[in-house]
Amino acid sequence: MKKPHILWLCRLLVLTLLFGVGMTSAASAQESFAASAQEYFAQSKSSQTAGEAQQLISDQNPLPYAVEYPVIGNDAIDAQVKAAAMQLVSDYQTLYADAQAAAAEVSRPKQAAYLMASYTSFQTEEGLYNVVFQETYGEAGSETSFTKYHVFVYDLSTGEPFTWEDLFRPSYQEKAADYVTSYFAADEDTACRLFGGTQALSAERGWYDSFAVSDSDIVFYFDKYSILPASCGAPTVIVPRDVFSGSYLTDPEEVEPEQPAADSQNSSRIIDPNKPMVALTFDDGPSRGATNRILDTLEKYGVVATFFDVGYRVESYPEVVQREKALGCEIGSHSYDHKDFTTLTAAQIQADHNKTNAVFQKVLGETPTLFRPPYGSYNATVRQNSPYAIVTWSVDTLDWKSRNADSVLAEIRKEGSLDGKVVLMHGIYDSTAQAVEQLVPSLLEQGYQLVTVSEMIQYRLGETPAQGKVYQYSDFR
Ligand code: ZN
Repeated sequence: MKKPHILWLCRLLVLTLLFGVGMTSAASAQESFAASAQEYFAQSKSSQTAGEAQQLISDQNPLPYAVEYPVIGNDAIDAQVKAAAMQLVSDYQTLYADAQAAAAEVSRPKQAAYLMASYTSFQTEEGLYNVVFQETYGEAGSETSFTKYHVFVYDLSTGEPFTWEDLFRPSYQEKAADYVTSYFAADEDTACRLFGGTQALSAERGWYDSFAVSDSDIVFYFDKYSILPASCGAPTVIVPRDVFSGSYLTDPEEVEPEQPAADSQNSSRIIDPNKPMVALTFDDGPSRGATNRILDTLEKYGVVATFFDVGYRVESYPEVVQREKALGCEIGSHSYDHKDFTTLTAAQIQADHNKTNAVFQKVLGETPTLFRPPYGSYNATVRQNSPYAIVTWSVDTLDWKSRNADSVLAEIRKEGSLDGKVVLMHGIYDSTAQAVEQLVPSLLEQGYQLVTVSEMIQYRLGETPAQGKVYQYSDFR
């Protein structure tokens, strides 16, 4: 999977340079303000990976401004983001109110100051939407410019702002402070000495409220001249999520002891071979958000599914995989990092399986029986070098393409009877988790039993899944 945070941070640095140096002189020159605004808006395009850009531009002297903000199609959130963008403009007008008053006395006022603001935007797998405004402002013609971050995180499922309290236990402050302080303390560059020494970044100082969340990191933003000399710009510190492990609060049930109710539900699960049965399968996970939401539904109805998990993600979210197992679900391998296995040599295939099995062994204390090759793509070499039964599917919901719960449900409905079928979905999309919330009760109402893939093979094909054997489309009709 991609790791966007490195990229967008590099771009943020580029932006800092642009804003800090280029824009001061551009804004002081008598060229078209609107044209130079478009020029630097273009610079941030590639780091705006969520939402459509909208602009607030005025080239009217004495206080021209250019602010760009995103719209993502969630009315509640879009209204808050737009209000934040408009706030930047009104704060700027208030700051330079004197210049505005003075300009009112003359017929052709000169430019007194400038405000340029753009943003970085991105979304995490668990559905957190981050908007990081970076504004630069100052007096026209002055060497001094100010750079500030305004960071907003929203939960796309609720439309509400996402705060520290939503994310961490109270101990987050100390963990953040420890990490950030040692990060700067390790910097040999005397030019970037913290104001007030390393104690300046202590937990009590409230430095850690400005943060964004990526899939792997929490990023802290510090305004220019807030903790370091102006020559150091407006620093960001990337803290891996692992640093906060044990203090995560997004999934409160994760930190509670495993529910004994789930186990007893499953041990009492009886399969009637004469009644219709269907196997739901989820590839590409685990993820903290969507997979847990799917598991919530399975748990609520006391049913099971099969998860074809990717090795490197199992390493990242071991607790989610352990929850899959605790709920009685089957866990298959979907390779270590989702390569197309038909492009690999026998040795590479074996190495991938060994690496993946070691992860499963560590996290679950056992290795999987089933392997679903990435893209469902396999050949004789894959078959001969995989210590599993190979499984594909018979109903494709195309959930990865539609990212829409209604389309997922419509694809399944199109299939007619689901008896004996294996349904392909992905455990990393919130839209899929949403579809599952409607699908599971509807299947139960129609009299289906939800079984694992191994159970389907056992009850419908009368076999125990065997190494090197392939179960595919025609086996699950
Ligand atoms: Zn996949």
